[in-house]
Amino acid sequence: MQESTLWQAVLGEIELSVSRGNFVTWFKNTQLIRYKDDVAVVGVANIFVKNQLEKKFNTLVVETLGKNGIRPLKVEYKIHTGISPQIKHRDSEVLRNQPAPSAAREAARPKATIGGVTHSYRQGLNERYSFENFVVGAGNELAYAACQAIASKPGTKYNPLFLYGGVGIGKTHLIQAVGNEITAKKPGARVVYASTEQFVQEFVDSLRIKKNTSDFASFYRSADVLIVDDVQFLAGKERVQDEFFHTFNTLYQANKQIIISSDKPPKDIPTLEERLRSRFAWGMTIDMQTPDFETRCAILQSKAAGQGVSLNQAVTEALASRASSNVRELEGTLNQLLAWCEMRRVEPDMQVVAAMFESNQARPKHISARQIIERTAKHFHVSMEDILGPKRDKDIVVPRQIAMYMLRSELHLSFPKIAHELGRKDHTTAIHSIDKIEKELGYEGSIKQYVLELKERLYA
Ligand code: ADP
Ligand code: MG
Repeated sequence: MQESTLWQAVLGEIELSVSRGNFVTWFKNTQLIRYKDDVAVVGVANIFVKNQLEKKFNTLVVETLGKNGIRPLKVEYKIHTGISPQIKHRDSEVLRNQPAPSAAREAARPKATIGGVTHSYRQGLNERYSFENFVVGAGNELAYAACQAIASKPGTKYNPLFLYGGVGIGKTHLIQAVGNEITAKKPGARVVYASTEQFVQEFVDSLRIKKNTSDFASFYRSADVLIVDDVQFLAGKERVQDEFFHTFNTLYQANKQIIISSDKPPKDIPTLEERLRSRFAWGMTIDMQTPDFETRCAILQSKAAGQGVSLNQAVTEALASRASSNVRELEGTLNQLLAWCEMRRVEPDMQVVAAMFESNQARPKHISARQIIERTAKHFHVSMEDILGPKRDKDIVVPRQIAMYMLRSELHLSFPKIAHELGRKDHTTAIHSIDKIEKELGYEGSIKQYVLELKERLYA
C-alpha cells in the first residue's frame, strides 16, 4: 500500500477516536513520509505538533498503524517544511465513506482548493447506492428516468431536479446514485452531496468558528453537481436559506446541476422563502410514490440476492404484504429474517416467517433511545457511564458507535440528536460512527454479527 493511502486510512481511524478539535489541530496536516527498516517517519508542520504527538498521541498512532498492518519499532515525528494545508491531504472522511477498493478512484477525486486551503467538507457519497441496485417500479420510474438523464448529461435538462416523497422510499438512494454515476464516468467532476442538516451545521460552524462564511460559500459554489438531501430542514432557518439562495443562483447561472430532495413539495415546506420556493420549481419536480406490491417483492428479492440469499416466492410475498410500503422498513424486515435464519442456521421458509412474525407481535411498539443505549451497553458489558463518557478505549468506542447506529436505524433520530443522546457535543462524530458501522455491515465480520445479535435481542 502506498504511504499516502495507508496514512489516510490511519487518519480516518484516528479521527473517530479523538475529538474534532484534537484531530484538526494535531493530525490533519500530517503525512507519512516514509516507512523503512521498522521506522515510520511522520511529517508534521511545526514543533508544537511534534511535541504533542510524541507526548500524548504516540501510542494511538502506533496502535492505529498496527491495525493497518504496519508495526514499526519506532515512530519519528519530523518537522517537514513541505507540510502546509496545501499538501494533498486527502479528505479522510470521504475515504472512509468508500469501500476500500475504491481508494484509488477516490484519489482521483478533486478537492476544492480555495485560497490554497483544501476543504474538508465531506463529499458524502456512499457507493452503496447505485442505479444497478435500485429496483424500478411503479412509483419511482419517473424519478429514476430523470436521475438517469441527469447522470448522463448533468446541467442540461431537469435543472434543478426536485424529488419529494415520504420517508424510506429511495430518495437518498437515487440522488446518491446520480452522484456516484457522474463521479465514476468523470472522476474530475466536483460532485458535492450534503444532507441539509450538514449544510446548516457547516454554515453555522463557519460563522461561529471562522467568523466568516466565504470558504463555506466558495466550496459549495464551486461544485459541478450539488446534491442537497432533505431540504425541508431549511424551514425556518432564514440565514441559511439566504446562503442557499445565493449558492443556488451561482450554480444555476453557470449551468451546474442541482438536485434537491424533500419529504414534501416546495409549496408545503413551511416558512420557506418565496424566492427559493419558486426556484425549486424552475426545473423538474417529481413526486415519488411508495412502491406497490410487485415492486416490493422485486426489492426484497434484489436485496436478498445482494446478500447471497434467494427467497422463494411464498416467503417474498409474505414479507411484502406484511411490511408497510416504506422500503427502509421492508429492508429491516428482510434483515431481521436473515438474522433470524443465520443465528438458527436455518433456511428462510414460511415456517421461519411465521415464527418471526409471531415473536414480533410480542414486541413492545416503542423503544426509547435510552433503552437502546442501555441494551447496547449491556450487550457489550460496558457501563452506561463509560458508553456515555469520554473514554476512547476500543472496547468502549465500538459499542458507542454501534449504539449510535442503532439509534439511527431503529429510531431514525437526527445526527445532532444521536450525538446528544450519547453525550457528544459534535454531531459529526455521529455521522462518522454511523458511516463506519454501515460500512462494516457490508462485510462478514464481527461487527456485523454484533449488530445482528443486538437487533435480534433489542426487543426481546
Ligand atoms: P429516503 O431518502 O426516501 O428516506 P432511502 O433512499 O434512504 O429513502 O431508502 C431507504 C432504503 O431503502 C435504502 O437502504 C435504499 O437503498 C432502499 N431502497 C429504497 N428504494 C429502493 C429501490 N427502489 N430499490 C432498492 N432499494 C431501495
Ligand atoms: Mg433520505
